[in-house]
Amino acid sequence: MVSAQIKDKNKEYIDLDKQFVNPVLSRLAPIVAERGEGSYLYDVNGDKYLDFGTGIAVNALGHCHPKVVKAVQEQVATLIHTSVTTYHKKYIELAQKLAEIAPGSLNSVFLANSGAECVEGAVKLARTYTGRPAFINFLGSFHGRTHMCMALTTSKLSYRDMYEPLPGPIYTAPFPYEYRSRHKGDPEKVLDETFDHIDMLFHQIINPKQVAAFIVEPILGEGGYVVPPKGFFKRLRKLADEHGILIIADEVQTGFGRTGKMFAMEHEGVEPDIMTMAKGIAGGMPLAAFVAKKEITKDWALGRHGTTFGGNPVSCAAALATISVIEEEKLADHAKKMGEYISSRLKKGTEGKKHVGDIRGMGLMIGIEFNDEKGNPGKDWAEKVAKQCFENKLLVLTCGQGGQVIRLIPPLNVSEAEADEAIEILLKAMQ
Ligand code: PLP
Repeated sequence: MVSAQIKDKNKEYIDLDKQFVNPVLSRLAPIVAERGEGSYLYDVNGDKYLDFGTGIAVNALGHCHPKVVKAVQEQVATLIHTSVTTYHKKYIELAQKLAEIAPGSLNSVFLANSGAECVEGAVKLARTYTGRPAFINFLGSFHGRTHMCMALTTSKLSYRDMYEPLPGPIYTAPFPYEYRSRHKGDPEKVLDETFDHIDMLFHQIINPKQVAAFIVEPILGEGGYVVPPKGFFKRLRKLADEHGILIIADEVQTGFGRTGKMFAMEHEGVEPDIMTMAKGIAGGMPLAAFVAKKEITKDWALGRHGTTFGGNPVSCAAALATISVIEEEKLADHAKKMGEYISSRLKKGTEGKKHVGDIRGMGLMIGIEFNDEKGNPGKDWAEKVAKQCFENKLLVLTCGQGGQVIRLIPPLNVSEAEADEAIEILLKAMQ
């Protein structure tokens, strides 16, 4: 009896949601969250879920980290918003911090509200600086939902379908996705295929002197948690430099310790020209940034780009608190260690399971790719496993160009006990 009443509470809200919320908005788990604490979410019935989706990699310190809560509470009682009416302290402090932690000489910061806004800003900046119109993106990328971002996105048809015409000019190269490549097992050849394609683009389709930038995710996010073979970014940098093309690294999903370094581009030691960042930046508060080399922004004329809400004091205070926890608690190192732990236990536990094709990732950005009977992308398996996890109170998201990947993005400070809890549920589901 009690449980019937309990079930109704989620349903009550979801029924209301159906009446008033635009049906385009998807929500994956059929529960209504009421509160979050650390790695756990509680629904309106009081049921507890281990959250390995973290609001798509946003709750980097778990839910309601006390230092983030304190920073937000203090700031909200002091100053909420000024926009361009005045300067404010937290914006400046955060810009200084981002310049300090961003790779190399990236030190000119612009703050916005979302990943897509930052990609838009980076595109505008790259065009202005180079005086060139075109971009090269990579197959399987996701860069956001605005029109330019949609045009740069090729991870799934549904993100673009029905919205043509989309802006351009944009030319797409294959992302070096070894697991689904015909050169699987030979990473150099996988890379050659990508660069041969770009070479073809430059000889047959677009003059490289017309290309403003390559835009690339260091690890494909929505496209399936695909880590490119080592050497990809060094080769890309060399090619970009040969032609005076910029590199925009979209670190919206990979940034802030997620992959075991503060930013994923650091793994290869390659410095992009512009970097976009968002998601984990502010412990759950809406904030994003694009950071560029000063040389690139110095002649961007006053007012050629702007925002009303971007970089509001409350989000900036949350970001300063989040970054200081990531640094003080060495959470990038922890993410590396826990990522290796989770991946190796999952690999061991799924040996011989033919539907589990690949377990990969970097740090706490782990993808489990499923196959169907014929070895093709196994969306049904990914969905079945995600559903089983949900029934056992573990929240996970899927991704991948065919929806065939389960992604694990726990908080950066996830404990070994919480990881074990998730692993047990996952392994049971994959049986
Ligand atoms: N870029 C990447 C790599 C992303 O993963 C996302 C979102 O998932 C975006 C851009 C867009 O970010 P937002 O949804 O905040 O606009």
